[in-house]
Amino acid sequence: MNVVKFLVAALLLLCSSAVAPASAAGGPLAGKIIGIDPGHNGRNWSDPSYLNHKVWNGREWESCDTTGTETNGGYPEPSFTYSVARNLAALLTAEGAQVVWTRHSNDGVGPCVDRRAKILNNGHADVSIDIHADGGPSGGRGFAILEPVADGPNNKVIASSERFGRVVRGSFVRMTGMPISTYDGNNGIAHRSDLAGLNLTTQPKVLIECGNMRNSSDAAMLTSKVWRHRAAKALADAITRFLTT
Ligand code: ZN
Repeated sequence: MNVVKFLVAALLLLCSSAVAPASAAGGPLAGKIIGIDPGHNGRNWSDPSYLNHKVWNGREWESCDTTGTETNGGYPEPSFTYSVARNLAALLTAEGAQVVWTRHSNDGVGPCVDRRAKILNNGHADVSIDIHADGGPSGGRGFAILEPVADGPNNKVIASSERFGRVVRGSFVRMTGMPISTYDGNNGIAHRSDLAGLNLTTQPKVLIECGNMRNSSDAAMLTSKVWRHRAAKALADAITRFLTT
């Protein structure tokens, strides 16, 4: 490469990197706030009394949080949820969105499930997602989407959450290769009235169980870094579709 070509290439590189934030700011999600709740936390196991204290979930008393499940090979659910969440946040930010998180690391305890819902409500998210993976029967496969049931605080977001859930299911089927759950819900959709995150939400929200950590085929996907990025892309695709169409 001669000097002129080098200078032109350097200039182009400089321009493209200078333009990137501006295009993100003007991206399809500019002005939107997305709530991300990576389920559980990496050190929840270390404080059982905190974890087991009861919080009001809108209908009944529920444990503050749980440790989450793990694959038979020992890959913990909090690591999985945090990994997908980080990938998702990067994709959404690149589209111009602001992200509100319920936790910023994977080496802490909590927060409790009621507090997670309040963080996202107070952050005025346009839509939120709770990310989990299930500890189901070892012969069962696939992902399921858990949706809220009207109970007062969430009354205004039942219909929008239903629509969001259908969009998430479509993107996840199309983009991840993970099958729809063979054991949970009806065609991948389950309505749940026992979860603070869904009972207390005042924004459209669903909880996704991205797969079954106790099934070996699902676990092979969930433990793959490449697959987790694919899952995050599917969730970003769904969020963008939900907010822009
Ligand atoms: Zn979970």
